[in-house]
Amino acid sequence: MREVLLVRYGEVFLKGANRPHFLKVLTDNVKKAVKPIGGHVWMSDSRIYVSDFEDLNECIRRVTKVFGIYSVSPAVEMEKDLDAIANQCVEMMRGFSGSFKVFARRSDKHFPLNSLELGAELGGRVLDSNPNLTVDVHHPQHRLSVEIRDNAYLCVEEIKAVGGMPMGTGGKAALLLSGGIDSPVAGYSLMKRGVRCCAIHFQSPPYTGELAKDKVLQLAGKLAEYSGGIRVYMVPFTHCQLEIHEKCPDGLGTLITRRFMMRIAEQIAKQFGAQALITGESLGQVASQTMEALTCTDAVVSMPVFRPLIGMDKTEIMAIAEQIDTYETSILPYEDCCTVFTPRHPVTKPKLHTMPDAERKLDIEALVREAVENTEVVQI
Ligand code: ATP
Ligand code: MG
Repeated sequence: MREVLLVRYGEVFLKGANRPHFLKVLTDNVKKAVKPIGGHVWMSDSRIYVSDFEDLNECIRRVTKVFGIYSVSPAVEMEKDLDAIANQCVEMMRGFSGSFKVFARRSDKHFPLNSLELGAELGGRVLDSNPNLTVDVHHPQHRLSVEIRDNAYLCVEEIKAVGGMPMGTGGKAALLLSGGIDSPVAGYSLMKRGVRCCAIHFQSPPYTGELAKDKVLQLAGKLAEYSGGIRVYMVPFTHCQLEIHEKCPDGLGTLITRRFMMRIAEQIAKQFGAQALITGESLGQVASQTMEALTCTDAVVSMPVFRPLIGMDKTEIMAIAEQIDTYETSILPYEDCCTVFTPRHPVTKPKLHTMPDAERKLDIEALVREAVENTEVVQI
């Protein structure tokens, strides 16, 4: 008899020809997640199991962050002996009160009792041993699950995991990661759909400092907990910003800055092998996020730009930031390159056809090239 972690994955994405590939990626990702704590991982009968971990809680913490995993249960793995199983059921339900139901499932048809008989037998024995319990087959408070497979697996507790699609099965994209609340959430949303992301951050020293840089690396580190690592591109952006500030109409400063970010990001994204860009914009949140402004931003790149937060309120975004533990880092008060040269009266309804004229004094190609060439790569 030993303690294992029983791991459940979603079935939806597992139909069709991709199934073996997705399962292999998913199992490998669980292996990677528990490797530092020495867990042994295997798959059998449409379940993943983990054993030989040092610390159950740490194992749960790690596995519940693997995209594609829907829930986990600490379980007892034991021999398929009815009396031994019954005794263990009694043991596991000892501290409980309220209603319960036994969910028995016999996959091994050699086991003498079928699923129904086994459920009834075990339920009866547990009931006899614990007067604080009653049976409720429709809405039980506690679910004692007993699965008869190559071994018997018993568990009571089920802990929800992140869900989503296995990391790496959704292609690659480049996340424009600021130090704010929104962009880490935007990255998380796509990562959850199996997209492997790199992060691109624009910094403007000396206007932005080391603390701002550390903050972004810290945020990237939080995202890396879900992806098993992330590459961060640190783009020197000061020259672009000074040029824009000096040579472009003030009211369009932020928008032109955003257009440069997109141009540079697209180049870096190609180096990474990404097919799309991701930003944390939400419609109407600020002047640069109106429909007209977003049209002007998108016009400079040919890659699709994913904005998973476009229809979300700030409070909804903040709730996810809390949940994925980026919020506390995001609200640290360090300057972002965007706040350095904010125009006093930004244009909220810019016209796309006026943009080339507004940018005509800039050597766009040279500025983009310079920024890309001097970009620093940090692997987390
Ligand atoms: P966030 O909370 O993500 O910073 P925001 O509401 O402050 O978003 P903006 O500052 O207008 O909005 O930025 C919009 C998006 O542009 C961000 O979500 C992010 O994807 C990208 N972005 C902004 N500043 C930077 C930066 N310094 N480096 C990388 N990406 C950035
Ligand atoms: Mg911001």
